[in-house]
Amino acid sequence: MKRQTAAAIAALIVLAACDREINTVSRPLLGTIVNLTAVCDRETAARATQKAFDEIARIEALMSPYREGSDISQIARAHGPVRVSPETFALISQSVGISRLTGGAFDISFASIAHLWNYKDPGFVPPADSALDRARGLVDYRKIILDEKALTVRLAPGMKIGLGGIAKGYAVKRAVEVLMAEGVDSGIAEEGGDLQVFGSKNGGPWITGLMDPREKNLVLSIKLGHLDSVATSGDYERYAEYEGKRYGHIINPLTGRPAEGMVSVSVFSKDPVISDAYATAFFVMGVRKTAEFLKRNPDLGLSVILIDSGMKMYASASLKEKITFLEKWPVVEWIDRR
Ligand code: ADP
Ligand code: MG
Repeated sequence: MKRQTAAAIAALIVLAACDREINTVSRPLLGTIVNLTAVCDRETAARATQKAFDEIARIEALMSPYREGSDISQIARAHGPVRVSPETFALISQSVGISRLTGGAFDISFASIAHLWNYKDPGFVPPADSALDRARGLVDYRKIILDEKALTVRLAPGMKIGLGGIAKGYAVKRAVEVLMAEGVDSGIAEEGGDLQVFGSKNGGPWITGLMDPREKNLVLSIKLGHLDSVATSGDYERYAEYEGKRYGHIINPLTGRPAEGMVSVSVFSKDPVISDAYATAFFVMGVRKTAEFLKRNPDLGLSVILIDSGMKMYASASLKEKITFLEKWPVVEWIDRR
């Protein structure tokens, strides 16, 4: 009798597992690979992920600097105020707000100088100081003029903006919203390392890992709960080398040069937009300024794992119970105790 019950329970579990499969679908979008995971029956997963991919494609068409008709391309071409979609306007306003809070470390007008850094070019050479000096004045979020009523954006002549440091977070957030609206109650939206999870993995937490930026092996795993998001900014994916020096794709708006001092910055919060933007900001700010910022702004709900160029790790004390080290890291300092 006991045996029969056990067999019946096993069958039930198998059935439940059939109904609620972990479905992952991947597509190239936003210049990276987007992976969507939906824990549900296959039919729901197919429908929901299709809608979420459509949503990401829509955001890309609106915000990519490489798309002819995008809001960002139109702003770049114009000589006066440009009317943009309410979504682009909202993301630009939010970006300017984050610039104010971070003392300009995050600044979407970095694009006014970034084009001088041809780090994708195999024959990469750093730009001349004179060219950087001329462009540096154009990197200034205070020169982005926003008209909330008319939904227009106006830049100073020669200025450019780019949403590369925040739009991926927005796409992750919208993808999760779409998956949930389509009836999926557990899953993940992940785009080039930035992700948000929702629900649970078979009743337990979702788990993500952090790579050693130099050795490329997994250093630690970390548990994520409903709507936890993480974004990582690193110097190890997109960079160029010249005479033995590494030049990354995150610009320090103050110098007009690639930010130095950090190797990897991961930010955890409940909002993928915030995680994405602050990962970029903290990469520019470095350890000391980031630790001060976290102390001053506890209401933002941010936690971090930072690795500086000396390969020292700094992690928010609030993450301690969620982290499992898979490999011993030489130095870890717990910061941001509240
Ligand atoms: P990744 O795109 O590799 O995940 P990030 O999320 O940190 O890395 O975004 C880096 C991108 O942000 C750059 O490729 C560029 O488009 C943009 N960016 C670079 N410097 C800044 C800055 N100081 N402020 C805002 N955005 C920036
Ligand atoms: Mg980012």
